Amino acid sequence: MLNIVLFGPPGAGKGTQSGKLVKKYGLVHLSTGDIFRYNIKNETKLGTLAKFYIDKGELVPDKVTIEMLQSETQKYRDAKGFIFDGFPRTIAQAEALDTFLNEKNTQVDLMLSLDVAENELVKRLLLRGKDSGRADDSNEEIIRNRIQVYNDQTAVAASYYDKQNKYFPINGEGTIDTIFDQLCKVIDRFN
Ligand code: AMP
Repeated sequence: MLNIVLFGPPGAGKGTQSGKLVKKYGLVHLSTGDIFRYNIKNETKLGTLAKFYIDKGELVPDKVTIEMLQSETQKYRDAKGFIFDGFPRTIAQAEALDTFLNEKNTQVDLMLSLDVAENELVKRLLLRGKDSGRADDSNEEIIRNRIQVYNDQTAVAASYYDKQNKYFPINGEGTIDTIFDQLCKVIDRFN
């Protein structure tokens, strides 16, 4: 199996690059943000709970997020591997993912982190908000809060993987294809 954590602040391009990586490597893409939005659209209990946090730009509580991610992962028993996009976002989530994958005799192989300057992130998210209809992409105050939450609670997850020599920062500014090439270069060393 090849399990990749695609990391980076909101607006770094994780979704775009995941789509390309899935095509090239045949991995299953699990985006916790997408799964929450699917649940919100379908008005599930989980969706109602998640919406309360997402609309403010806060993190959904760890327990709920971890349980959801685990049950999603179980749906793909024959997967060649996973791209975890938007997960883990806290140390507790990173630890839970390790435990869960270890139980399945597998592990996170690498964390690829897309680095993008804050002003560029805000610009990208406001632009995306015009088309996506995402409330959390349309309001600059919420966007800045999401970036703050990333800096305060999520960025530390990089050091968690760095300690295991699994952390690979990538310049997330440039063309989609240049960034993709850099990601592939790292992955091909593991594949
Ligand atoms: P994203 O699509 O990854 O930008 O996620 C959108 C929103 O979903 C985030 O701002 C959080 O409110 C929530 N969310 C997504 N993934 C997680 C996670 N791993 N932990 C907690 N909240 C999350």
